[in-house]
Amino acid sequence: MALIVQKYGGSSVADADRIKAVRDRIKRTVDAGNQVVVVVSAMGKTTDGLVALAESVSTTHAQTFDEIAAKEREIDLLLATGEQVTIALLSMALQAVGQPAIAMNGTQVRVVTEPIHTRARILYVEPVQIKAALALGKVVVIAGFQGVAIDEKTGLPTNEVTTLGRGGSDTSAVAIAAAIEADICEIYTDVPGILTTDPRIVPKAQMLAEITCDEMLELASLGAKVLHPRSVEIARNFGVQMCVRSSWLDDAGTVITSPRIGTGSLETLEVNRFVEAGSIDYDQAKIALLQVPDRPGIASQLFKSLAEKGINVDLIIQAVQETEGVNDIAFTVPKDQLHLAEVVTRSLEIGASSIAVDTNVAKISIIGVGMIGRPGVAAQMFSALAASNINIQMISTSEIKISCVINASDGETAIAAIQKTFEVPVQLHQRNIGLTENSEKSPSVRGVALDRNRARIAVQKVPDRPGMAAKIFEQLSEQNISLDMIVQSQSDRDVNEIAFTVAIADMTKAETALNQVATTLGYGEVSCDSGISKVSIVGSGMIHQSGIAARMFSALADTGINIEMIATSEIKVSCVVRDHQAEEALKLIHQEFNLSGDSIIEVPSALKK
Ligand code: ADP
Ligand code: ASP
Ligand code: MG
Repeated sequence: MALIVQKYGGSSVADADRIKAVRDRIKRTVDAGNQVVVVVSAMGKTTDGLVALAESVSTTHAQTFDEIAAKEREIDLLLATGEQVTIALLSMALQAVGQPAIAMNGTQVRVVTEPIHTRARILYVEPVQIKAALALGKVVVIAGFQGVAIDEKTGLPTNEVTTLGRGGSDTSAVAIAAAIEADICEIYTDVPGILTTDPRIVPKAQMLAEITCDEMLELASLGAKVLHPRSVEIARNFGVQMCVRSSWLDDAGTVITSPRIGTGSLETLEVNRFVEAGSIDYDQAKIALLQVPDRPGIASQLFKSLAEKGINVDLIIQAVQETEGVNDIAFTVPKDQLHLAEVVTRSLEIGASSIAVDTNVAKISIIGVGMIGRPGVAAQMFSALAASNINIQMISTSEIKISCVINASDGETAIAAIQKTFEVPVQLHQRNIGLTENSEKSPSVRGVALDRNRARIAVQKVPDRPGMAAKIFEQLSEQNISLDMIVQSQSDRDVNEIAFTVAIADMTKAETALNQVATTLGYGEVSCDSGISKVSIVGSGMIHQSGIAARMFSALADTGINIEMIATSEIKVSCVVRDHQAEEALKLIHQEFNLSGDSIIEVPSALKK
C-alpha cells in the first residue's frame, strides 16, 4: 500500500465528464490498495475568468501601494472560489460511486502561509486532518492554490484567505505530499509529461522519460509552465518523489529525479534556508567589449569563434545601452585561456569601441533553490558587498544562483561579508563541483523554454560606485517584485546601465518604485519595454561542452533575430528577443539542437477549442 498524492490541473477537470474520468482514475488507484489525497485546480479557465471579472469592476488603476494591497486581498478571496467548486464536485462524484471522500479547502486543512496576498509562500501544512480522514478510508480532496495566512504576532493561523500565485496548485500538491510524507506526488495534466519544449508551439516536441530537479527548476522558472517552479523546489528540499503524467492516457510520464536527499524543515516549508552555499572563483579573467553595434550576429560571431578554439566561456552578459543603440558585452574565461581568448576577440572585426581585459577579478556566488522568487536575497547580497565598500563589476543571475564579478583584491572581504550575511561557508570554487556522475552523459540541451510574460526595465546613468545595485534592488524587493537576468553593463564611462527583466504584471509597480528614488540615488531615466520575450536553453550536460551558447546565438543570427540581452549560468543560456520574433526563435533553437521527435504531441485541451 502506498500513500499517493494526485494533482489534477484545470484542463483535467474542465467539465463534468472530465471530473468523472478523474474520479475513475482515483477509484482505480484506491482499489489497487493505495491511500489517495487529491489536489485540484479550478475547472478549465475559471481562474482567468475570475481575474477578468475583477478587472472589469475595478478599472480605475490602483494608485498607491496601500490601494494595491487592499485590492489584492479581495482578489485572493475571489480566486480561491474556483478551486472550491472543483473539490466539492469531485468529492460528490466519488461518493456517488461508493467511494467515501471528503473535500477540504486550504483553511480547513490549514495550509498555512505568509500573510501576503496573491503570491503567498507556504509555511506549513497541518497533516492531522488529512491523516484522520485517510484513516477512515476516505479520499481527501483538497483545493490547490490557496492557503490561510498566519498571524505574525501570535504565530497562529487567521481566517484570511491567501493564494500562492498563478499555477500554484502544483506547489500545494508537493507541499501536502511533503507534510504527509507521501510516497509519490503525481501531477496529472494535458500533456504526456515533460517535453523538450511546449508542444503548442512545436508539435513534434519530444517526451523526456526523466529530468533532474535542477534542470526542471530552470525550465519551469524560465517559462515552461507545465510545473510551478516552487513545487520543484519543495520536491528537492524534501526529497518528494514526483512525476508528470497525462490525465487522458495511462503512459508512465516523466520522472523528476533528485540527486540529493531533502534537508528541509516541515515547520517552515517554503521559507527554509534561502542560501545553501557560497563560492568564490579566483581563476577567472574578464574580457569586456564596449559599444559594440547593436545588430544581429555579433554575439554569435564572437562566441562561435571562441568555441571553435575550445575556449570555455563561463559568464556572459550583454546589455543594450538603450540611449546609444550599442551593446556592451562582457564575459569571463578561465585564466589559462585568457590569452587565446583575447587574441580571438581582437582578431574579429565587430566594431567595438574598445576591448578591455582584466585578470584581476574574482567571481563570488551564492547558491540556493530557496531564493526563487525571493527578490530580497539579491538585494541582501549587493548590500552586503556595498557595506564592505566593494564595487560590483558584473552581475549575473539565474533563479537559483547570483554571481558578482568583483576586483580580486576584494575577495577576502567579500567572503567575510557573504559568510556573515547568509551564515553559509564560502568555498573556493572547484570546477564541476556538485555534479552527479551522470551529468557528463546528460544531453547538453534538455529543453527550450519561452517566457512571453516578461518586461525589460533599464535604469540609465547609474553612478559607478559601490552600493548602487543594492539600493536599486532594495526598492524592488520592498515591493516583493522578483527580477531576473540582471545585467549591469561594463562601461568605460563613469555611469552604468543596469537592466533586468520582471514579470509584465509587476512592470508598472517596479517603474513607480524606481522613479520615486531616482533623484535621491542620482540615476537617470527608468525605461520600460514590455515588447520583449525571453527564450532559454537548459541542460546539465552543457557544463562539459563548449560552444553551446554560440550555437544558440548563431541559430538566431542566421535568421536575423537580434539578441537584446544575454545571461548565462552553468546549465542555462537565456536571450531576450523582440516578442514578435519569440516563437520563431524558440522553433529555430529547438531545431538547432535536434530536439524534435517523430510524432506529433496532441494537447487535448488545446484541440477542444
Ligand atoms: P495544468 O492546468 O494541468 O496545471 P498547465 O497549463 O499549467 O496545466 O501546464 C501544461 C501546459 O504546459 C501544456 O499544455 C503545455 O502547453 C505547457 N508546456 C510548456 N512547456 C512545456 C514542456 N516543456 N513540457 C510540457 N508542457 C509544456
Ligand atoms: N487555478 C490556479 C490558476 O489558474 C492555480 C492552478 O491552476 O495551478 O493559476
Ligand atoms: Mg499548471
